[in-house]
Amino acid sequence: MILLDGKKIASEIRAELRDRIDALKAQGKRPPCLAVVIVGHNPASETYVANKIKACTEVGIEARKIAFEADITESALLAEVERLNADSTVDGFIVQLPLPDHISESAILSAIDYRKDVDGLTPENVGRTVQGLPSLVSATPKGIRELLSRYAIQTEGKHVVVIGRSNIVGKPMAMLMMQRPYLSLPGMSASSLGDATVTVCHSKTRDLAAICRTADIIIVAAGSPGLLTADMVKEGAAIIDVGINRIDDPSSLRGYKLVGDVDFEHVSKVAEYITPVPGGVGPMTIVSLLQNTLQAYNEHP
Ligand code: NDP
Repeated sequence: MILLDGKKIASEIRAELRDRIDALKAQGKRPPCLAVVIVGHNPASETYVANKIKACTEVGIEARKIAFEADITESALLAEVERLNADSTVDGFIVQLPLPDHISESAILSAIDYRKDVDGLTPENVGRTVQGLPSLVSATPKGIRELLSRYAIQTEGKHVVVIGRSNIVGKPMAMLMMQRPYLSLPGMSASSLGDATVTVCHSKTRDLAAICRTADIIIVAAGSPGLLTADMVKEGAAIIDVGINRIDDPSSLRGYKLVGDVDFEHVSKVAEYITPVPGGVGPMTIVSLLQNTLQAYNEHP
């Protein structure tokens, strides 16, 4: 069994990014700039935002945090999005989700200029990804593609099962895996894997286990601890665990521990490749955001 060490690969990519950004600065150019908009005080969102800002700073990307109280109106937030769209010193920005109930997430996301949409969530970017056009790809699927690529796990002709159909993980993941690799287009990563036969599963899927047993690669993004068990996995398969779930753990100081969607202990005995949680997909997601920021900077200086 080979552990797909996202922490190690993300650290290698951060070093590569740091070198590229140092080279830009040595040429007298300004560094790339990412703005992060956060609304309210959701503790998980505050942690994610802090981690993103720290990761930017480590590679030399300028990070700006823009915080609003939870009672900001939708129109005021839209005005901020328009301001960031027009700010030529900002290469990319994200609006941390979830937003308070009185604000429509889709209205906010749709207002972001797709060239600055480093989360890859605008309808324009999603559509461009579907059509194989240069685009900013959603961070988690992009990170998973990069992880597979760096471990030389081929996807061509393979059966990839994606469990989960969310807009941020499942759908774009399935799209990347089924796509023809459009390597010749500018802006596409050299790691454009694809050419797989893809099955997307969700909570209404019948006999998930039987479908999974036919998979060469299983990507689980369900948010359901222990969903993928060893009897659902073909010997030699590659398993990518996107899930992040808190479960009670009285023996830990925090009182909980983080686990994925995969029964790691048993599945790791059957699989050839597997990601740990934490330390697998999570670090790759953050590093993809940094890559997208540099891509936005390079394509629209
Ligand atoms: P969503 O809740 O938006 O989507 C979950 C999907 O899984 C849905 O499509 C749902 O089906 C499906 N699903 C849930 N339970 C089952 C089941 N028992 N069998 C089959 N399908 C099921 O979640 P996200 O995509 O946003 O996130 C998924 C997980 O990944 C979460 O744990 C999240 O925390 C984690 N995550 C991790 C990231 C990282 O960087 N590592 C980044 C983003 C997310 P249906 O559509 O029918 O409801």
